[in-house]
Amino acid sequence: MSWHILGAGSLGSLWAVRLARSGLPVQLILRDQSRLEAYHRAGGLTLVEQGRPQLHPIAAQTADHPAPIQRLLLACKAYDAEAAVARLAPRLTADAELILLQNGLGSQAAVAAQVPQARCILASSTEGAFREDDFRVVFAGHGHTWLGDPLDLSPPSWLDDLERSGIVHDWSLDILSRLWRKLALNCAINPLTVLHDCRNGGLSEHPAEITTLCAELGELLETCGQPAAAADLHDEVLRVIQATAANYSSMHQDVRQGRRTEIAYLLGHACAAAQRHGLALPHLRALHTRLVKHLNAHGLPSQ
Ligand code: NAP
Repeated sequence: MSWHILGAGSLGSLWAVRLARSGLPVQLILRDQSRLEAYHRAGGLTLVEQGRPQLHPIAAQTADHPAPIQRLLLACKAYDAEAAVARLAPRLTADAELILLQNGLGSQAAVAAQVPQARCILASSTEGAFREDDFRVVFAGHGHTWLGDPLDLSPPSWLDDLERSGIVHDWSLDILSRLWRKLALNCAINPLTVLHDCRNGGLSEHPAEITTLCAELGELLETCGQPAAAADLHDEVLRVIQATAANYSSMHQDVRQGRRTEIAYLLGHACAAAQRHGLALPHLRALHTRLVKHLNAHGLPSQ
C-alpha cells in the first residue's frame, strides 16, 4: 500500500524521505505539471541532515494521476488544505485514511467536510524542517508527532510504518486538546513577536500583555470544552519564551520573508470561536485587529 504525500515542502519531504528509505512505497503529489517537471529536473528530494545532503529519487505525480489513493498524508499549509483535498477527492477509496499535518485548527474540519467517507487523523508535530531551496529541505530539529482521531480512538494499522521509519510518534486519545494547547501557545507568543518585531525572548519585556492574553485564552479553552488545554497555560507560555528566547517565531519568519501566515487557523480561529460562544475577549480581539492591520500593511493576506 502506497503512502501518497501531498506537498513536497518541509514536513512533506521529511516524512517522504524517512518512509521511502525504510523501504515503503511513497508517491509524492505535486501541484501541477510544471512543478512535476521541475522535480524531475532536480532528480528527487534532497534532505539535509546534520549538514549532509542526500538525494532521494522518490516517485512523484500530479493530482490528475488516475491511481486510487487509500492513504494520504496532507503536508501543505492550512490555507491550501481544503482545495488540495477537493482535487483529490475523486481518487480516494471508500476506506481512505488522511493524515492532516496542518498547524492550528479549522482546516481539519474543512477537509473532513470535503471527504465524509474518509477517516481523518489529526497530527500535531514538534519536528522542525525548512526549505533551503526547491525540493531541498533541512531537518532542523528532531521532535515528536502526536496523532489521533477524535471520532475513533482505535489506532490505525500503519503506525508500525512510522516506527520502522524512525518517525517518533504517539497515538493520542485527546488530539484536540493537544491542538488547542498548541494553538493557545501560538496565539500568546507569535503575534506579539511580529508586532514588537522581536525574538521570542523579547516578549519578557511585555509581561502584562502576556498575562492578560493567557487569562483570555484560558477562558476560551474552558468555554470550548478544553479545560486540560487551559491548565497552567501562563506558566508554559513563560517557559516556552525562555526556552526559545533566541529564536524567531514561525510567524515572524513568515512575515519577514513576505510569506503568507496561517493567522486564520490560529489567532483568527480563536477569535471566531470566542464570537461563536458569545465570549467577549477584548485583548485577544484587539491583538487580532492589530495583526491584521500589520499584515495588510506588509501586503500579506490576513485570511
Ligand atoms: P511548506 O514547506 O510551505 O510546504 C507546503 C507544500 O505544500 C509546498 O511544497 C507546496 O507546493 C505544497 N502544496 C500546496 N498546495 C498544494 C497542492 N494543491 N498540491 C500539491 N502540493 C501543494 O510547509 P510546511 O512548513 O511543510 O508546513 C506544512 C504544515 O505543517 C503547516 O501547517 C505548518 O504550520 C505545519 N508544521 C510545519 C513545521 C515545520 O517545521 N516546517 C513544524 C510543525 C508544523 P509548492 O512547493 O508548489 O508551493
